[in-house]
Amino acid sequence: MKEAQKILAETFGYETFREGQEAIISLILAQENSLGIMPTGGGKSICYQLPALMLDGLTLVVSPLISLMKDQVDALNDMGIPATYVNSSLNYQEVSHRFGLAARGEVKLLYVAPERLESPDFLEMVRHTRIDLLAVDEAHCISQWGHDFRPSYLKLAETIQVIQPKPTIVALTATATPEVAQDISKLLAISPENQIKTGFARENLAFQVMKDQNDIYLIEYLKMNQGQSGIIYASTRKEVERLYRLIHAENLSVGMYHGGMSEVERTKNQELFSYDKLQIMVATNAFGMGINKSNVRFVVHAQIPGNLESYYQEAGRAGRDELPSEAILLYRPQDVQIQQYFIDQSESELEYKQHEYEKLREMNQYVHTQMCLQRFILRYFGEEGEDCGRCTNCLDDRESVDITVDAQKVLSCVKRMDEKFGKALIGKVLTGSKDQKISQWRFDQLSTYGIMKHLSQKEVNHLIDFLTAEQLLVPSKGQFPTLSVSATGVDVLLGKEKVFRKQVMVRKLVQDDAL
Ligand code: ADP
Repeated sequence: MKEAQKILAETFGYETFREGQEAIISLILAQENSLGIMPTGGGKSICYQLPALMLDGLTLVVSPLISLMKDQVDALNDMGIPATYVNSSLNYQEVSHRFGLAARGEVKLLYVAPERLESPDFLEMVRHTRIDLLAVDEAHCISQWGHDFRPSYLKLAETIQVIQPKPTIVALTATATPEVAQDISKLLAISPENQIKTGFARENLAFQVMKDQNDIYLIEYLKMNQGQSGIIYASTRKEVERLYRLIHAENLSVGMYHGGMSEVERTKNQELFSYDKLQIMVATNAFGMGINKSNVRFVVHAQIPGNLESYYQEAGRAGRDELPSEAILLYRPQDVQIQQYFIDQSESELEYKQHEYEKLREMNQYVHTQMCLQRFILRYFGEEGEDCGRCTNCLDDRESVDITVDAQKVLSCVKRMDEKFGKALIGKVLTGSKDQKISQWRFDQLSTYGIMKHLSQKEVNHLIDFLTAEQLLVPSKGQFPTLSVSATGVDVLLGKEKVFRKQVMVRKLVQDDAL
């Protein structure tokens, strides 16, 4: 590793390796396949760029980010490293010229988009070139369970078979749940002990969940943060346009970005935002991969996204410069239905859809948990962490109230309904609703029927959401989940565990001087 250290200093100009870099580079140099999971900005590129300089053959980099390829290659060339890229922006002659450079060993790194892997000229190049290292960037795109699955990535496993002798593989990603990591490892033949994962926590981000806020809140927030750079994400083009008009009418500096706009317009807006000529960007998730702006102070999700991977990746675009920044999620229950609709409408197979519903449910639990929000996210990615002390839950100083008895009422009702029904009907039984379905199933005969009739249906639903987020209730898979009681839930029923919840304080309306 001494030589690697030397190249790090002399070529890249860095004194020390960042967390994870050295471990990955050692594995590559030992010709072992590896998977690096590092946060955005963590320094993944050096993990393959540096060994590329130490290997005799070519390093082939597969990346879906066409817009970033040129920047990366330019940066490498500036450092005196011969590198090139091939993508759809080039004509046939240029492509074959560049493949020629690779085959003759005149470049150390060649970047290609995954779509290229099947083209005859690419396969021809592969046959004449010694490829020592294959770097797969954004490797989560290979997994069907990832949030950004790309069918073209699946061809990768086949392409690898064509490359002889077999190259060493390094897969890199910033977002992988344990399940996605396992999938990548299986597809690319990476043994589990060669998985290098660095801390996911973002010390400078304050996560916030705001329930039932309206446009006024958003405008107030933007006015308070005037002069700062920020992104507002919405789920649909229509909502992006609506928010854009709303913010524009307030004379704030704002642009928009979504897939329905022309490429010229999109590029223009992205550039204006990059160069701080526009302060706020309202966008769908089409505005994303490859934004390299470091001083984004806030990312507001005006609508809930479909899963926590997308959320963490999008929210993580705030505060790349490591200065304090905010990641705010505005929650309205009807926005969950938009995501549900996206899944319903997709033409994917049933198993995949069920998975997507489950991810959406976990996203929804993020909104209802009272746990530290950063810790909740880390746990989703299979990591333990400390309370951040910055998120809305950590800063919530309302008193925790013992709600064990209420929790027991809900849990025992779920048990009495044989754990075969969903939230809506459970809520109706607890509040003593006269719904036909209830008499039909004879749930009005249960001892828990109407046991919470002093509460509204909405309050009881919130309580059920809370108990689900606390993992006392477990939803089944599929579009219409039924709820069952978890092992910890059973302990609560048996009185072995207590449940605490921060409650909204109801202010006394009687005036003291009237007494
Ligand atoms: P990622 O691909 O993980 O998002 P990059 O590879 O683009 O991150 O690296 C992010 C930034 O960190 C770059 O500006 C890079 O030059 C810098 N960087 C990478 N490794 C080191 C290091 N060992 N020391 C200092 N800076 C580094």
